[in-house]
Amino acid sequence: MSAIVKDIEALAQRIGRRLPPVETNFPLKVPAHFIERIATCDHDGLLAQVLPTAAENQTVPGFSADAVGDLNARPAPALLHKYHGRALVMLSPRCHIHCRFCFRRHFPYEQTLGQAAWQTTLDYLHRHEEIHEVILSGGDPLTLSEAQLTDRVRALEAIPHIQTLRIHSRSPIAAPALTPQGRFLHWARHSRLNKVLVVHCNHPDELSKETAEVLARWRQAGFTLLNQSVLLRGVNDQEATLEKLSHSLWAQGVLPYYLHLLDRVQGAAHFEVSASRGIALIQYLRQRLPGYLVPRLVREIANEPCKTPVEVI
Ligand SMILES: *Cc1c(COP(=O)(O)O)cnc(C)c1O
Ligand code: SF4
Repeated sequence: MSAIVKDIEALAQRIGRRLPPVETNFPLKVPAHFIERIATCDHDGLLAQVLPTAAENQTVPGFSADAVGDLNARPAPALLHKYHGRALVMLSPRCHIHCRFCFRRHFPYEQTLGQAAWQTTLDYLHRHEEIHEVILSGGDPLTLSEAQLTDRVRALEAIPHIQTLRIHSRSPIAAPALTPQGRFLHWARHSRLNKVLVVHCNHPDELSKETAEVLARWRQAGFTLLNQSVLLRGVNDQEATLEKLSHSLWAQGVLPYYLHLLDRVQGAAHFEVSASRGIALIQYLRQRLPGYLVPRLVREIANEPCKTPVEVI
């Protein structure tokens, strides 16, 4: 059984269902763990996140290739510096899973690769002493080899004004078996840096015994564990689903951080949930959960100095 499936026919066989073939410009990619989760749940909320559909090929007004203004915020090819004190580094163009709603599906990643881009990133971070937190993102930074990842974070640790290392990754959820747990966590345990892992889980059924094990190891290595989700039509836009998501994450030691309104990226319009529905869902969660299990509802607006809260009155 291959660890990652890349065509619809193979996915159909693995989950024992017929799936219609569709041509899109963002290929299917699903790791084994996520396939198992799809096969064991009794709804389409997981499958919908990875299965290409004809709806993606429709052009919808208001949905663009660079929905969040990233291309205007790059002082170096692999570095986004949009927010005060924090810089986001695109460490890998790859992901173990391809999420159909992803805002980065159109990003020119080829410019972010290689030693030269990394050196330019380091030079920028060295020069900018106001940056105290580096966010490793992608793609998915945890698709690097343990050796390469460890080299990268050692170089960041050597920059005196950097205090916090944050990693944004869907790997611990989608592909726990492919997530670093050896040499890199050994480094982390002894590092002077504050460490945060922000995973990306949209539905409680994405979690399993395997995700719990990986998350526990990262926690033992000193990482604070947070989750961000995207509010997605047909996936997690029901009260009970979001309530269970918060409980299930916390059962694995993860606190909800952000619930994002969908970035208006070309090909993802059919996933959009309105802001008013998002607000209603959060109001429900507030009545049901302790405050620390209610995620902050936000949207990203190009050129704003932070994620914009979607206010719940
Ligand atoms: C989301 C994001 C961050 C992190 O924002 P927080 O509110 O600190 O989580 C930083 N830089 C960029 C470019 C981002 O998109
Ligand atoms: S793992 Fe994250 S970056 Fe990669 S396709 Fe999914 S949402 Fe996009």
